[in-house]
Amino acid sequence: MTKRLYYPDTGTDELNCQARVLACQPVEGGGYDILLDQTVIYPEGGGQKSDTGCLLQLPEKTVLAQITHAREEGEEVWHRSERPILPDTQVLVKADAERRRDHSVQHSGEHILSGLACRLFGAKNVGFHMAEDYSTLDLDIFLSEEQLLALQRAANQAVQSDVPTRIQVVEAEALDEMELRKKAKGLTGTVRVLYIGGVDSCTCCGTHVSRAGEIGFIRIDASAKYKGGIRIWFSCGMRAVEAALQEKCILDKLAHRFSTKVAELPEAVYRQGDALAACKREMRRRTAALLEYQAKDLLASAEKFGGVRLAATSLENMDMGDLKLLAEKLCREEGVIALLLSQQAGSLHYQLARSADVQESMKEFCLIMNGLTGGRGGGRDDLAQGSAPAAASSRPEEILESMLAYCRQRFRG
Ligand SMILES: [Zn+2]
Repeated sequence: MTKRLYYPDTGTDELNCQARVLACQPVEGGGYDILLDQTVIYPEGGGQKSDTGCLLQLPEKTVLAQITHAREEGEEVWHRSERPILPDTQVLVKADAERRRDHSVQHSGEHILSGLACRLFGAKNVGFHMAEDYSTLDLDIFLSEEQLLALQRAANQAVQSDVPTRIQVVEAEALDEMELRKKAKGLTGTVRVLYIGGVDSCTCCGTHVSRAGEIGFIRIDASAKYKGGIRIWFSCGMRAVEAALQEKCILDKLAHRFSTKVAELPEAVYRQGDALAACKREMRRRTAALLEYQAKDLLASAEKFGGVRLAATSLENMDMGDLKLLAEKLCREEGVIALLLSQQAGSLHYQLARSADVQESMKEFCLIMNGLTGGRGGGRDDLAQGSAPAAASSRPEEILESMLAYCRQRFRG
């Protein structure tokens, strides 16, 4: 059994203690697992990540091993290290103070958010996960944007209240009589009950701040619908401060770009969006007019084979949508086959279309084009399209000539 001394009520400073090595075993894949009779290294559990730290030799206090992770196995805590230590060695156990503080702050912030979500909206915490660089909280009901704002306001008010954290150690049976937000199931023996920020009460084995004010700042970074409820990404303390500072830099850059104040950014972005949409509409109108002229020109110079006119051309910077529009304009007339190529952004697009009264299959023509260009394409008998990689885009005239040669041969029999 390993005595846990990472709690403030254990008579230690929560970060340093002496211990005896009880066992040391190699781990598959490298490293060693070290069992101590007591420890201040918090083992991963209850949604909270493991502490890191080191084991020092006594009395010299030279480092014997770095602890990269600790895990619980029943009553025991096993510490992962890159180096072995002989059983019976007396060591000084040191937990990484900064990491502990960060984890305690995130974990305590989670309690305040969960306690308030329950009090304000009747939402139940159904999941908590702490990763290296973010934390999430899952609630069983969805909360609106306004509710999330209210939750953050109330959470930071609780932080400001700076209420001391209270821990009560009780026998598991006593829990039945206690009114708590959350009671872990199947607990036996002595149980730790936590009261934090004046807004939460529950059984919890994690580490926490000693006063709510130490959390500093709680913010919700993002949220998404999740399993009928909501998943909230949140950060507390310096993580929240860093996130806020980074966002401030981004907002300042955007405000500078738009020559406006941060507060007026949304309006400026919407205005730009509207202006862009208007430009696109005008561009489509002008393109349609231009294509009308282009279609007339192409029909005037089309090669004729009996009743069929072959309107063929190679264009530049015309996208698939515009090519299709041009093909449609050409094929409104009777007896037309349109063979249209366009070089755009390093590739070659092609569009093949026929008038309703023409019998030739464009699907078949497209196979020939695929063969000439090394491209991929297909479609229906009346309309087909494809694209070819960069190599083909450097010789569109040559490809068009080959396609025309194929058509002449086909129509002249
Ligand atoms: Zn907790």
